[in-house]
Order: sequence, then C-alpha cells, then structure tokens
Amino acid sequence: MNLETYDLFSRQIPFLGMKRQEILSKKKVVVVGAGGLGSLVSSLLVRAGIGFVRIIDRDLVEESNLHRMVLFERKDIGKSKAFVLKEKLNDINPECRVQDMTENLNNSNKIKLLAGFDVVVDCTDNMDSRYVINKFCVKSEKPWVYGSAIRDEGLSSTFAPSGKPCFSCLYPRKPKPGSIPVCNVEGVISPIIGMIASWETMEVIKILTGLSEPNYSKLLRITLKKPKFEFLNIMARKDCEVCG
Ligand SMILES: [Zn+2]
Repeated sequence: MNLETYDLFSRQIPFLGMKRQEILSKKKVVVVGAGGLGSLVSSLLVRAGIGFVRIIDRDLVEESNLHRMVLFERKDIGKSKAFVLKEKLNDINPECRVQDMTENLNNSNKIKLLAGFDVVVDCTDNMDSRYVINKFCVKSEKPWVYGSAIRDEGLSSTFAPSGKPCFSCLYPRKPKPGSIPVCNVEGVISPIIGMIASWETMEVIKILTGLSEPNYSKLLRITLKKPKFEFLNIMARKDCEVCG
C-alpha cells in the first residue's frame, strides 16, 4: 500500500487492520441499483477501499430522487444514475476502479453483468431483480446482500456462498404486480435508507475480510418511527425451486 492510500485509510486501519485493508483493495463488488441504497452503498464501498466497484442501473436521475439519494444534485437531473455515481466516486480512491453500466439486470444479461465479482449487493427496488441475483448467486456459489427500504421500515439479509437458505426460501412465490408496496405510493424517509445501506456495506466488509460472521440465515427488520430492531430466522426449504 503506497503512502497516499495509507493516509486515505489512516482512520480505518487502526480498527480494521492493515491485512484486512489490503484484502479489500483486491476485491470486486457489484452494486445492482444506483438509487437511495445504491448511491450510498457504492460511495461507502469506494471509501472503504474496495478494489473494483461496478454500479448497474438503467434509470436517470429525477428531481424526486434528491431527498434520499445523497450523491445526486439538481444539475444531475436527466443523466444516468450509474454514470453520475461513477463520475463522483472515481476520484476518491486512486486504487479503486469504479465502473458504470447503464443496463437493466435480467436473466439474459446476468452472467455478463454479475460474473467475476466477489460479492453482489442488491440495492434495487424490485423483486424481479432480486430473483435474478438469487438464481445467479446460488448457481455460482457467490455471497450476496439483500436490502430494501420503504416508509420507515428496512429489511436486510445476507446469503452465503452455500446458497442455503436462499432468497426464494424466504420469498418462495413471486408476488403479483401491485401486491408489493412501493416507495412512490407509500413514501420513504431517508434515514432508513442510510441505515440499511450502512448495514449492507458492513456485511460486504464482513464477507470479504472475515471481520465477523455475516448476517447469514437471518432477516434483519428495522423500523424507526416506533424504534424496533429484530432478527428473524430463515429456514432452507426442501421444496425451494432454486436451492432445494
Ligand atoms: Zn432456496
């Protein structure tokens, strides 16, 4: 690690240790979604010292994003979210490569977009993308971190390389369109995004460095208005169509 990078991480290394810092610098993380969760997760990952961060999102920045997507400014409206994040994050860590992909993750491009990474981080706002990530990660034995936020409520779970239990064990059936609450109807308050994004980033650091046991086989549920922080067990299902 050169002196410039050492100084960049001089407040992190006393906690994390030099060995773990060097491990992070050799790892590749792909962030799917560059909205509220994704803008914060990608920013924290680059600042933590990950070697390569790919950001995937097909959407453009809108005015209604600005209350919760902390890296976007008014001047970014109309530009690709992934591109704007790359431009803003590129100059923070000289040893981190940040790449933008303005694409929509689906079954036909999942290998092109997700293969070769050490961890996949879900920062999307839809179940379809999560099922695609889950199938890919179970098959390729890669860990991934799920996160979602709506109103004042947040959820997160981390899925181990073993693939059991998997996201489809937790949510076996694809919900019908319109049956899942969405932020543009229900609303979302920005602090819950910050909490889930921070949690997801810490999970990535734990997976990559072995700092402590990630949140495997458990679903974290946080609410803020009436503060509550709970962990629910996730059981592997024998009849799971993905990992069973
Ligand atoms: Zn399963």
